[in-house]
Amino acid sequence: MATVTKRAGKSSDTNGTTKKGSDKLIYYFGQTRTDGRASQKMLLGGKGANLADMTSIGLPVPPGFTITTTSCELYYKNGGKLPAGLMDEVRKNVATLEKELGKKFGDNKNPLLVSVRSGAAASMPGMMNTILNLGLNDVSVAGLAAATGNVRFAYDSYRRVINMFGDVVVGVDHEHFEEAFDKIKRKYKAKLDTDVPEQGLVELCDAYKKVYEHHYGKPFPQDPLEQLELSIEAVFKSWMQPRAVKYRQVENITGLVGTAVNIQSMVYGNMGDDSGTGVAFTRNPSTGENKFYGEFLVNAQGEDVVAGIRTPLPVDQMPKWNKKVHSQLLEIKKTLEQHYRDVQDIEFTIEKGTLYMLQTRNGKRTGAAAVRIACEMVKEKLIDEVTAVKRIPASDLTQLLLPSFDPAAKKKAEVLTIGLPASPGAAFGKLAFTAAEAVDRTNAGETVLLVRKETNPEDIDGMHLAAGILTSTGGMTSHAAVVARGWGRCCVAGAGEITIDEKAKKITVNGKTFTGKDTLSIDGSTGEVMVGNIATQEPKLSGDFTTVMKLADKYRTMKIRTNADTPEDAARAREFGAEGIGLCRTEHMFFEGDRIQAMREMILAETKDARKDALKKLLPFQRSDFEGIFKAMKGLPVTIRLLDPPLHEFLPHDEKSQKEMATRLGVSPAKVKQRVSQLHEANPMLGHRGCRLAVTYPEILEMQVTAIVEAAINCKNKKIDAMPEIMIPLVGAAKELEVLRELTLQTIEKVIKDKKYSGKLDIPVGTMIEIPRAALTADEVAKHADFFSFGTNDLTQMTFGFSRDDINTFLPDYLRQELLLRDPFQTLDVSGVGQLVDMAVVKGRQTRDKLKCGICGEHGGDPLSIAFCNKVGLDYVSCSPFRVPIARLAAAQAALNQKKS
Ligand code: PEP
Ligand code: MG
Repeated sequence: MATVTKRAGKSSDTNGTTKKGSDKLIYYFGQTRTDGRASQKMLLGGKGANLADMTSIGLPVPPGFTITTTSCELYYKNGGKLPAGLMDEVRKNVATLEKELGKKFGDNKNPLLVSVRSGAAASMPGMMNTILNLGLNDVSVAGLAAATGNVRFAYDSYRRVINMFGDVVVGVDHEHFEEAFDKIKRKYKAKLDTDVPEQGLVELCDAYKKVYEHHYGKPFPQDPLEQLELSIEAVFKSWMQPRAVKYRQVENITGLVGTAVNIQSMVYGNMGDDSGTGVAFTRNPSTGENKFYGEFLVNAQGEDVVAGIRTPLPVDQMPKWNKKVHSQLLEIKKTLEQHYRDVQDIEFTIEKGTLYMLQTRNGKRTGAAAVRIACEMVKEKLIDEVTAVKRIPASDLTQLLLPSFDPAAKKKAEVLTIGLPASPGAAFGKLAFTAAEAVDRTNAGETVLLVRKETNPEDIDGMHLAAGILTSTGGMTSHAAVVARGWGRCCVAGAGEITIDEKAKKITVNGKTFTGKDTLSIDGSTGEVMVGNIATQEPKLSGDFTTVMKLADKYRTMKIRTNADTPEDAARAREFGAEGIGLCRTEHMFFEGDRIQAMREMILAETKDARKDALKKLLPFQRSDFEGIFKAMKGLPVTIRLLDPPLHEFLPHDEKSQKEMATRLGVSPAKVKQRVSQLHEANPMLGHRGCRLAVTYPEILEMQVTAIVEAAINCKNKKIDAMPEIMIPLVGAAKELEVLRELTLQTIEKVIKDKKYSGKLDIPVGTMIEIPRAALTADEVAKHADFFSFGTNDLTQMTFGFSRDDINTFLPDYLRQELLLRDPFQTLDVSGVGQLVDMAVVKGRQTRDKLKCGICGEHGGDPLSIAFCNKVGLDYVSCSPFRVPIARLAAAQAALNQKKS
């Protein structure tokens, strides 16, 4: 997840350029001069800043220049017009480039050719447009042929630019070019593109120009500067195209003003068998192993590796092809890691045996790799502990906690084929053949695997929702692999034995056919594709994981608790490092076995005594539940919330079940029906629930408090250090709490007396702050509370007036239209709900300066919300067991970032 909120600062650059400060629209990089710096990512985009930086540290980068992200912002502010003076600046920088390289734009001898690429401050792989070979026209194509002595290459480059420019800049459908190509192939009886002879390519360029003119209505522009201008505009436009907007939404990328445009002199990986192109990571992005890791293709250009059109070779095999270049790359790996102190994801090209670096950026990695790399880099003294803690995205730890296949079940599984282990995890699902199908079927409740030849950026919706992704072509750095790894989604790529028939919605693999009704399992750590639905198991945690957790604990200041209602959950959370229970919801306990009968008896009771009789039956169950939890959490606090949901939730609503209930309880069905309708509420979330139940039926509170105290005493008698805390939910007025606290304290005392317990038993009594009024009057409420726990689920519901149960009917519209940037039930709405939390902490502590404050809503496991909790001075966050490690790390990051600011 990338969130960039800072705006580009003023550039202090004065390095021989025509404009200074924030007005400067273009930054040059090359031997002549380099204007930009690594720290200018917001202004130059990640790619632009790093190209400048790599040039500065002496790496072999083809020279070029970067148009700033603020130019893109101006383009949109101008209503879709390039900023004034931009093209004058472009011309000046092209002149510098021509001088540096001794080449000329549009030249008939040695023409300058450039690539035009997007590059925002946050990485958005494949999301925006790229155009290669700009500068070719009818004259310079001959110049390129002369300069390279390779006519075939020149015309191949020319046809590529007409196609790419036509497709990306003016929107001529790629298929029209394909048709023209097929015609030429037929004419020359060529099977592959590469079989077409020189003359055929010359004819193809003419055919492409016709296609272009026919479909666009104007000829392919011959003026290289016009080509450049239109391409720059196309990149700016691509910033707002739906797939880019969607990607930013999915990845939570906010606060960016636009994309930069990088214009860079071309080098060629397709000039013969001594040329090539590749992408690599300085360490393995899947496992984190410290080994140069990547792929390359001989005699290939540009995006061929990433696009997954041909299957590349692993870089390990490069020495057989060119030992010198391989050693040079290993040196560059060291230089880059020393310089950036992080794993780099690089793109390189070898032109006639000479290596050029085209890009470097921090490598996306899996959660497991992030943990291993951080730990090993600390050992290698590349980074310090604090950097290590800050660098691992806390949410990515989920991936380490992900299930894998149960080895016994897997042993029995039929392995159909093995692809590349592109992104770890274990997933199974029914086959979906398009992203749209994956979206529809997932929304309809199915678990699906998205099966594609190769994914592209338009597939991200379906990729995001699918349980896993399986592709038949493409390598470890193909689109599917890169995107899945970034999300921690399980992915097997390049399973070449699978033939996919998208139209017929089936796949065949080794003679077997599978359709959308069949289930397959994929193992993202081994690449295996298996038949059926294989059982999964909980993960085992590595030594590096423990190290990271220890580091997190060293730097965090907030405590981490868990939300758990059973001894099993409590025990698991404790293993993950929970330091207590922040919320034990008691209502779930009433559904098990026969308890629900006693609960229903209690609800049907017409007198207090009858109710008390039913509650007596429930008491032993509650007591033993609490004993189990206290035992699992011995020595740690356990906050137990008294009954919260409205009573109708415990009654059956259909006639048949009501009849059954009546028979069991020996009453008439009419009576049950009548009670159900009596308890019916138009707005149950705002109804007879929380502390309001205890106001009406104090005997329920008495029973629960009795069970808690008896359980604690029983534990203490067995030398188990039980530490209960009693929490009263849904308080809106101080008086409610005053009355119920008094009743709670009286009950505690009564049980101690009845049990003749003489040991120490301090049971704090506190409240949840989940109604805005409680937050607003927190100073009053705090008079009767030993602690506050923010129930931000309800607090969000009531502050926004959004129903927790119904929000999904309209939330997607709100997110799409950016009325809200995030789901406020997942990430705390800092400016609204957060204000109430902040105010309640301040006011509460005005009354009791040491008032313990925590959070137990879902936000307690969300890193952004945890940062907020740290800022407003909460003592702890409480979250579900699996999120405890995330919370530990996020709390450390919050503490470190706060210290810095
Ligand atoms: C809350 O409202 O935030 C909370 C934790 O309680 P529940 O979700 O049970 O209403
Ligand atoms: Mg609540």
